[in-house]
Amino acid sequence: MARPILLSIDDDANVLEAVVQDLRREYGATYRIMRAASGQAALEMLAQLKARQEPVALLLSDQRMPGLSGVEFLERSRAIYPEAKRVLLTAYADTEAAIQAINAARIHYYLNKPWDPPEEKLYPVLTDLLEDWQAGYVPPFEGLRVIGHRWSPKDHQVRSFLSRNHVPYRWLDIAGNEDAVKLLKDRQLDPNQLPVVLFADGSSLVDPKPGELAARVGLSTQAAEDFYDMVVVGAGPAGLAAAVYGASEGLRTLVIEPVAPGGQAGSTSRIENYLGFPSGITGADLGRRALVQASRFGAEFLSQRATGLRVEGQYRMVQMADGREVSTHVVLLAPGVQYRKLDIPGGDRLSGRGIYYGAALVEAVSCQDEEVFIVGGANSAGQAALHFAKYACKVTMLVRGEGLSATMSKYLIDEIERTSNIVLTPKTQVVAVEGEERLEALQLHGPQGEYRVPATSMFVFIGAAPRTEWLPASILRDEQGFILAGTDLRTEGKLPTQWREAREPFLLESSIPGVFVAGDVRHGSIKRVASAVGEGSIAVQFAHQYLAGF
Ligand SMILES: Cc1cc2nc3c(=O)[nH]c(=O)nc-3n(C[C@H](O)[C@H](O)[C@H](O)COP(=O)(O)OP(=O)(O)OC[C@H]3O[C@@H](n4cnc5c(N)ncnc54)[C@H](O)[C@@H]3O)c2cc1C
Repeated sequence: MARPILLSIDDDANVLEAVVQDLRREYGATYRIMRAASGQAALEMLAQLKARQEPVALLLSDQRMPGLSGVEFLERSRAIYPEAKRVLLTAYADTEAAIQAINAARIHYYLNKPWDPPEEKLYPVLTDLLEDWQAGYVPPFEGLRVIGHRWSPKDHQVRSFLSRNHVPYRWLDIAGNEDAVKLLKDRQLDPNQLPVVLFADGSSLVDPKPGELAARVGLSTQAAEDFYDMVVVGAGPAGLAAAVYGASEGLRTLVIEPVAPGGQAGSTSRIENYLGFPSGITGADLGRRALVQASRFGAEFLSQRATGLRVEGQYRMVQMADGREVSTHVVLLAPGVQYRKLDIPGGDRLSGRGIYYGAALVEAVSCQDEEVFIVGGANSAGQAALHFAKYACKVTMLVRGEGLSATMSKYLIDEIERTSNIVLTPKTQVVAVEGEERLEALQLHGPQGEYRVPATSMFVFIGAAPRTEWLPASILRDEQGFILAGTDLRTEGKLPTQWREAREPFLLESSIPGVFVAGDVRHGSIKRVASAVGEGSIAVQFAHQYLAGF
């Protein structure tokens, strides 16, 4: 397989040579290092590389060049290699322009000249970016294939699971795909029993359950120990933060997560406002980084869903979907929230068959050159619209209110206004959906009354409900199901009668001592990545205090 390319661009031959030498020294074994003397020459080179289907991982361009400037080149390069990491090399005096360019040209980083010593000023940044690129890079295909129907909810689930767990696969839609039919026939598999996952060693799984698939792709489904100091339920930002802090502070930590690390943030296209990531970070990348970090400190991850919680003396027992149980002293509940379903005729039947809840990023590529509908006017809907606009020919946002200003952050509104294929349809609601096997049309109600529009894909973002239905009644919740903790456990100044401890509940401690709660699922929480991370880390401090009482 051809090594991915790092391309350096500079009109000054001496500087170009120096950059190339430094890149070669550090990355030459894994990447091919190429050079171009101008932005124009680099664009032509990229077009040729694209035609040969060569992978390009990084573009490192000088800013001041005759003809195209570095920013102009990097901006144009997005049309050819949108996934390549774009880094600008600037003189200190141009720093301001570089910061502006992060937004305008979606540049991932800028570096100031001189970059000596590269071990400090060049390699850490480039290595980080290249790791990100590698995580999203699907090399020419050598492995796992999924054969299914685009409009099947089961097929969607399998693809979504694999993508969220960064397992590379190739998807073959059985409809009109002779290769897919032949592959099934060669292996004597029934084309009526889909989805099928084919592995490189010739084996296959027909309509796999999440646990089966997790085990086959190397995710752990069985706990290594019987007992842990802390079991974390949910690997969203809150759970991951607790895992990093807990494990790094010596707690034997187990994290249970049925989908993939990253949580809701994992399904968002790009989090722009999380501290420390000036050009934004995808939720999936944040999840992957946190998983590596927590694992490095010794946290263990299980691909499982928690289905119950019970108390046995000083032990807390967490039950899982496969019937197994683990015991622990401390539980951290961080299962987040899930999207509310549209309560309209046809809505349930077509869920997963053209109607999707949440960003369903895995569907974006299938929507290439189609029209996509987004329901909702909050940030999550805005982020999804921008993501789908890269693939779909038109994205129509259906918004109940007059516009977006009351519900969406300004930076998103500005970007939506700049994106020509996003159309905003205010004061409009979906009242019904049509289609038998898959979504075919929407019935809308707008200022002019009811009307019908043909539609194949609709993504819904209309608020969320906590995932707490599996918890025992002794975990007290508010009317919507959000978990009460700390001082919120008091009603009219009194603690609930079930609270038998001589002490007050710790902040973030639920109505069961030793069971803490963090993130979106907590009553009164701020629904942000940073606050979930904050709560996850704070909960660990109280877990220590709780454990100190043993
Ligand atoms: C589309 C979208 C865009 C957003 N954009 C931003 C943004 O730009 N900036 C920002 O700050 N915030 C943003 N948010 C909000 C942010 O994602 C959430 O506040 C944050 O993810 C909450 O983290 P959490 O860990 O509490 O829960 P979640 O992220 O919801 O994670 C919960 C995890 O628990 C798992 N789980 C659920 N039930 C169980 C169970 N029974 N057993 C085991 N595991 C379980 C789930 O699979 C999930 O992975 C966005 C949210 C959405 C939906």
